Amino acid sequence: MKVGVLALQGDVAEHVSMTRAAGAEVVEVRYSNQIEGLDGLIIPGGESTTVGKLMERFGFVDEIRKHAARGLGVFGTCTGLILLSREISNSGQVRLGLMDFVVKRNAFGRQVDSFEADIEIPAIGDPPMRAVFIRAPYILSVGQGVEVLARFEDKIVLARQGRHLACAFHPEVTSDTRLHRYFLHMLSGKA
Ligand code: GLN
Repeated sequence: MKVGVLALQGDVAEHVSMTRAAGAEVVEVRYSNQIEGLDGLIIPGGESTTVGKLMERFGFVDEIRKHAARGLGVFGTCTGLILLSREISNSGQVRLGLMDFVVKRNAFGRQVDSFEADIEIPAIGDPPMRAVFIRAPYILSVGQGVEVLARFEDKIVLARQGRHLACAFHPEVTSDTRLHRYFLHMLSGKA
């Protein structure tokens, strides 16, 4: 199982070590031709307009879409979730459009810019996962093919569509590797 971590911005090293701990061979992806041969790709948090522009400039958008069509699975956290979406509320910024949902950026508002909460995620079982939200988005609405895996106070914060996984929080800043393991199980058909 070979997984790449997009290394344009964000917690690249943390995602690399967690995915390795979860049992995959992992590479940092800096060039679009490195997508070839990967089973999965992780898009870390950051700033989605910046990452989107860099992805477009360096040819990642077409390359990721092309490989998603042959089975590449993408796990997007925070900015990565935004980039996976079909539609971004009030924004025409670059996105991959691989998952059928509408997302709202910085959706929890200024009062609660960043916070932590314990989230129940039936797909990975007990105990609840400590979730760190940093200027996080949430999903406003999903299409039929999208499975909602977790909510925080009725807001959708984790969703799956086929081999793609979108998470509004930052799983890489804790020591809980269950979501990375779940993604690897999705890629190998075990989840
Ligand atoms: N607020 C950021 C954005 O809109 C996402 C924040 C994050 O990735 N932690 O891109």
